[in-house]
Amino acid sequence: MNLSQRQKKILEIVKESGPISGEEIASRLSVSRAALRPCLAVLTMAGLLDARPRVGYSYAGKEAKNLFADYLKRFTVGEVKAVPTVIREESSVYDAIVSLFVEDVGTLFVIDEGGFLQGILSRKDLLKAAIGGSDLLRIPVAVIMTRMPNLVTVEPDQDVVVAAKKIVDYQVDALPVVRKVEGDKFKVIGKITKTTLARLLAEVSS
Ligand code: ADP
Repeated sequence: MNLSQRQKKILEIVKESGPISGEEIASRLSVSRAALRPCLAVLTMAGLLDARPRVGYSYAGKEAKNLFADYLKRFTVGEVKAVPTVIREESSVYDAIVSLFVEDVGTLFVIDEGGFLQGILSRKDLLKAAIGGSDLLRIPVAVIMTRMPNLVTVEPDQDVVVAAKKIVDYQVDALPVVRKVEGDKFKVIGKITKTTLARLLAEVSS
C-alpha cells in the first residue's frame, strides 16, 4: 500500500506516542482535525491504526517484514517437502554417484535394511572420495557418509522458516524430513532443500 507523506507522518506519531487523540495528532502536524479525517479513515480501514472512542489512535499494523514472516510460517515442512532419494548403506560410492546423476539430485539419504535413516551424502562427500583415488566400486557409502546422530533433520509439522534457518545455520543444502518411529530411529518421508525453499518463494510471489 502506498502511503502519502502525511499518512506516513501520522503513523510515525502514533507509533511513538499512541494511544493519542485526533486533536493531538492534528496539532503536532499543524493542521485542522477536519483535514486529518480522510487520512485517519484510510489508515484505520487499512488496519494500520486502531481507533478507540475516548482512548484515541494506536498502532495496529505490523511491519511488512513481520507480515511476510507470518505468512511464510503458515507453510509446514510436510506441505512443501519434496521426494527424497535414498540409497542403502552397503551401496558402493560408485552407485551413489550414478544415482546422483540419474535422479538429478544433490544429496542422498542413506538408510539401513530396516529403512531407517543412517546417513547423508552430499556432492562434495562423493567428489572427495572420487579424487581420493580409492576403488569406488568397493567402498560402501557408509564409510564416507555423515552419520547419525550428527544429522540435522526436520519434522513434518514444523514450519518452513525453521527448516530454512537450519539450512543456513548448519550450512547444508538439504534436510531429511523424518518421522520418529521407535526409540531414536527415523524414517525419511521427504526432504527440504534450497530448491524447495526457492520454489516456495517463487510460488508465493507470482
Ligand atoms: P556439499 O558438501 O556438496 O557442499 P552440503 O553443504 O549439503 O553439500 O554438505 C556439507 C557436509 O555436510 C557434507 O559432508 C554432508 O555429508 C553434510 N550434510 C549434508 N546435509 C546434512 C544434514 N542435513 N545434516 C548433517 N550433515 C549434513
